Amino acid sequence: ATQEVDLLCIGAGGAAYPAAFRLAKAGHEVLMVDPKGVMSGNCLYEGCVPSKAVRETVALYDDVQRFQSLGLQGHIAVDFAALMQHKDAVQSRRYAQHAEELAATPRIRLCKGVARLLDAHTVAVDSDQGTDTYRAAHILIASGSDVFLPPLPGAELCLTSHDLYKPGPALQSLPDEMVIIGGGYIGLETATFFARLGTRVTLLQKGERILAGMDPAMVDQLLTLLPAGLQIHTDVEVQRVEDQAGRRQVVWRDQGREVSQSVDVVVLAVGRHPVIPEGAESIGIELDHHGIGVGSALQTRYPHIYAAGDVNGRVPLFHAAVRQSLVVAHNILAGNVPTDYADFSQVPTTVFTLPAAAYIGLTPDKAGSGALLEAQYSFKEDARAQILERREGEIRLFFEPDTLRLKGGWIVGLDAGSLIGQIGTALAAGMTAYDLARFADQHPMSAEGVSKAARSLF
Ligand code: ADP
Repeated sequence: ATQEVDLLCIGAGGAAYPAAFRLAKAGHEVLMVDPKGVMSGNCLYEGCVPSKAVRETVALYDDVQRFQSLGLQGHIAVDFAALMQHKDAVQSRRYAQHAEELAATPRIRLCKGVARLLDAHTVAVDSDQGTDTYRAAHILIASGSDVFLPPLPGAELCLTSHDLYKPGPALQSLPDEMVIIGGGYIGLETATFFARLGTRVTLLQKGERILAGMDPAMVDQLLTLLPAGLQIHTDVEVQRVEDQAGRRQVVWRDQGREVSQSVDVVVLAVGRHPVIPEGAESIGIELDHHGIGVGSALQTRYPHIYAAGDVNGRVPLFHAAVRQSLVVAHNILAGNVPTDYADFSQVPTTVFTLPAAAYIGLTPDKAGSGALLEAQYSFKEDARAQILERREGEIRLFFEPDTLRLKGGWIVGLDAGSLIGQIGTALAAGMTAYDLARFADQHPMSAEGVSKAARSLF
């Protein structure tokens, strides 16, 4: 028999559960379907959280090493297996926390299974128990994204971010040599983690630029600060990966020349692609070049079918998915009449390399030269940066020249992933350089650099 629900979420990641909880709290019956059988999607399974559990441990190791001559003594070694256990423990703790939240909320169920659309209101769920069908008043497609596997000979010999960061990861000891294919943020982050731990890492990027699509001034500055053990080759084309008695031989072309290197591990990080649930296209849901096509109210061509998060590909980041999920909830509660809209242009993005870079809003590469007034603050002169011996990098803020309204910013270096939140809050509040300059930001913390950058204009 077909069961009735008010909202059916395809997926249980960041794009799904905020809407699920909000609707359940408003009295609606909600079903989330996810083959993982747990909440949080890929962010917790293999993405943001486990990769940062690794990153922050490596960052601590790095700090201790830097302070060997600055007040700390003694030798510290990395136990890679223990580091992976720490990562796994963070994941288990968060899964348990989410399970408790779910159990404490009436009217939400999570079903372990895969959903497919039969028609605009009917969803089939395939699970170990067989197939169930549901009639849903509203559907939220939140099926996320997955690692893109290119048709590269030997791709199956490579590890991906899924293998590296999933619970019970593939690597349990530190490799001596590694090739990373792909110069996007996932490849570059992973490259810096392993390079800081002592692996000799070669990163191969097909295009001319690393972190293509991000402000070149930010990227160029970041590139000068990356670990010494990391070699980057751009404009190269990987031909194949071969097995060589358990080792991996990577063959690539560099300016017409064939080059090869034998390493312990090859990581393939050439992007992610949206996961489109079966049936979506046959009921007429349209795709664009990002994923499922939606406007800022997140509706598909059916007003009661929404697509949020990585599956629409607009801003494939967890926090963007969470906000989009709430937009969906608000629009459902308003009777599928758009009342709330996602702002795709103001989402903080951090590249969690060692050191990190972060940006938000409009940057000069997008605005065109001279369109924005720039303000700058270098960490060279910053108290906290000097205390921590982290004097490299800077904060840049971009303002509309006439009004001095904040339009965007970036940070390379110290506390970038936190500072971008402060700049983002100012941006969301519509603040100007005057507002930022008037604020007595705290000394000696890195955030005072935001006010100081603004003050440099006056
Ligand atoms: P987002 O951040 O957009 O929520 P995630 O990739 O973190 O994206 O989460 C999406 C979740 O949706 C993943 O856990 C994935 O396994 C799940 N999923 C993908 N396809 C389906 C499907 N057809 N039915 C149910 N769940 C799905």
